[in-house]
Amino acid sequence: MKNITVIGAGTMGNGIAHVFAMNGHKVNLVDVSQDALDRAITTISKNLDRMVSKGILDESQKADTLANLATFTDLNPAVTKAEIVIEAATENVELKLKIFRQMDELAPSKAILATNTSSISITKIAAVTSRPTQVIGMHFMNPVPVMKLVEVIRGYATSNEVTRNVMEMSRALGKVPVEVNDYPGFVANRILMPMINEAIYSLFEGVAGVEEIDTVMRLGMAHPMGPLQLADFIGLDVCLAILRVLHEGFGNPKYAPCPLLVNMVAAGRLGIKSGEGFYLYKPGTKEVEVSGNFKQLN
Ligand code: NAD
Repeated sequence: MKNITVIGAGTMGNGIAHVFAMNGHKVNLVDVSQDALDRAITTISKNLDRMVSKGILDESQKADTLANLATFTDLNPAVTKAEIVIEAATENVELKLKIFRQMDELAPSKAILATNTSSISITKIAAVTSRPTQVIGMHFMNPVPVMKLVEVIRGYATSNEVTRNVMEMSRALGKVPVEVNDYPGFVANRILMPMINEAIYSLFEGVAGVEEIDTVMRLGMAHPMGPLQLADFIGLDVCLAILRVLHEGFGNPKYAPCPLLVNMVAAGRLGIKSGEGFYLYKPGTKEVEVSGNFKQLN
């Protein structure tokens, strides 16, 4: 495939556009915000510079990658020639359903419509289109240019052919695709989020402090990052939203979000993006310390 459209130019959208463009695809990147598009191109350019300085790419490959990218603030005409559209807009059900209805109207009838959603049902999204066999989840991991995994999620109606195409396309990008079925949290978040929630419960119940919990999991389980630091990285609001999807989707109390997580999100302590979560992040430095709210436990 040569004509790819990526919808949403935020954290994930710019990474997805980067990887496709670097592999020789023409990418139309769409966002409702011109600022987000400008930031995305700056980020991609900086990330390409880093790859050049590490000897992964040369200057001409960087220039070719940037030349493969075009930006748009509207789906029309950005999706009208697409062979696959990958939606990576804000995680909001109503918004995604609206975008899929529009994509279904504007994209060629053969085009595959994929979503990078972390938690919304692929089957539900597919049901608002006239082509549910061609709707699929392509769950990339952050940061996209670095992380190898793509969780390929088959909706209830997704065809074998579309699944095979998306698996092959992911491999051609240098990724490792894993096929999973469409149930709440898929596989990655179904396993990751309860672990993060349990780490938050351990803190909430005073079993151990922030650094102690993270150190146990880093050094004891060889995780590159402790679960509380990872939650700050993902965004505590995102973690809470995914736990709610698991809780509601399975109707099982074991997924109920810890009240401390609920409180932190209500207080606007969302992790790195708000400057504070379990840790305090100092702007302009890489220095990190435990948030004042949890210091007494350390
Ligand atoms: P983000 O907030 O960084 O970016 C979302 C972008 O979508 C914004 O630039 C916003 O302007 C744009 N947008 C909103 N409405 C739009 C519309 N109608 N048309 C076009 N663009 C629109 O979000 P993100 O972290 O990049 O997440 C995007 C998707 O990827 C979500 O579904 C999220 O669940 C999923 N995801 C995120 C991560 C992560 O670690 N951040 C990991 C895997 C999957």
